[in-house]
Amino acid sequence: MKPDLQIVGAGLTGLTAAIEAAERGWRVTVAEAHSSPGGRARTLAEPFRANLGTHAIYVDGSWWEWLERRDLTPPIVEAPRLPGLVRAGGRLGPWPAELSQAIAALPAEAPAEESLRAWLLRHVDAKTAEAIIAVVFIFTFDHDPGRLSAAFAHQRLRRALAGGVRYVVGGWSTLVDLLAERAVGLGARIRTQTRVLALPEGPTILATSLASARQLTGDSSLTWPSARTVSVDMGLRAEDSPDWFRVLDLDDRIYAARYSLADPTLAPAGHELLQISAACAPDERKADAERRVHRLLDQCWPGWPAAVQWQRSALRTHCTGAVDLPGTTWHDRPAISRGGTLTVATDQSAAPGLLAEVGIAAAQLAVRQLGEPSRPTQAYERV
Ligand SMILES: Cc1cc2nc3c(=O)[nH]c(=O)nc-3n(C[C@H](O)[C@H](O)[C@H](O)COP(=O)(O)OP(=O)(O)OC[C@H]3O[C@@H](n4cnc5c(N)ncnc54)[C@H](O)[C@@H]3O)c2cc1C
Repeated sequence: MKPDLQIVGAGLTGLTAAIEAAERGWRVTVAEAHSSPGGRARTLAEPFRANLGTHAIYVDGSWWEWLERRDLTPPIVEAPRLPGLVRAGGRLGPWPAELSQAIAALPAEAPAEESLRAWLLRHVDAKTAEAIIAVVFIFTFDHDPGRLSAAFAHQRLRRALAGGVRYVVGGWSTLVDLLAERAVGLGARIRTQTRVLALPEGPTILATSLASARQLTGDSSLTWPSARTVSVDMGLRAEDSPDWFRVLDLDDRIYAARYSLADPTLAPAGHELLQISAACAPDERKADAERRVHRLLDQCWPGWPAAVQWQRSALRTHCTGAVDLPGTTWHDRPAISRGGTLTVATDQSAAPGLLAEVGIAAAQLAVRQLGEPSRPTQAYERV
């Protein structure tokens, strides 16, 4: 018998859609190309449990409330009370209090039509503007956040500094497992190692990346700007290690955090997991971005090469979520409803939120847009 609703992709978006849809009585099948669910929210197996994509979860947003209502919240931890360092003008130092003051003094609203850089220059001096732009890199991953819409960047800046950031204990796979178990418990079937090569018939949610949805549909309008960044992950011996938790390089737009200091389960005893993102301009090569990362480490972790036990790096394009350029907002991104019973829910879709939350909001909108199944199978809590 044909399933009522087909979901392609078992990342955070596809799993959220599966739960919402099954709660509404849909009989759901999720097809996932990979051997396990999670997509960009997967965590590597031991010894160094690096998150592939997602790191921070925001407990001050509507997704966290959604998880709470379903008793699906994962164990979380805050950042440890260790110093944060900033590199500015080639020198390492503590986070400058005047930078926090300058951010707090910005107007409450910023215009969507203007670039972040142009807007900041109307309120702060050029040096402070570039420092704030470098802070915005942490959660947009954009090589030049000054080019983004001021409203887009400013809303995310406020949100990121509001104190809602936590880390999932055991890595994001902990949350992926909770979501997948709930979806299966509600009757959804998750078929891993199942790559969908042609658009399914009937009610469908494409919960893939926007690029995969474009390939599957042949619809070239499924496109939106995203960032280009280089990720460097390292497992290191913890002897003679420095005392900071995170470093933000304002000069070079690099962000490094020792996640195992927040959650020791991510690395074996006596070792650490360090994960780094470096902005990568469209014309910069991966190797050059890595060289900039190494220069920063030389300064903030003397002797780091001898401590490295494991490492990997990757150039990441179109996988850190949507960025909105001046004159656009999330409403202008590719629509979720694609005509008939086809919907596309991705983290670059027309939905609100920060990073992964966009895909999750898109999943909820997709299920709502598909309406009720014609043949309800079971009644579950409706929210
Ligand atoms: C370096 C980095 C850091 C990040 N940090 C954060 C952060 O701190 N906080 C945050 O909230 N977000 C963060 N993000 C963004 C976050 O990872 C993504 O927004 C989120 O994981 C996207 O989930 P998704 O389910 O929409 O897509 P995906 O996770 O990409 O899932 C899509 C799934 O579809 C499957 N698929 C694709 N095509 C097919 C097909 N034809 N057939 C079957 N299956 C298919 C894929 O295998 C995949 O499993 C980060 C991303 C990166 C890359």
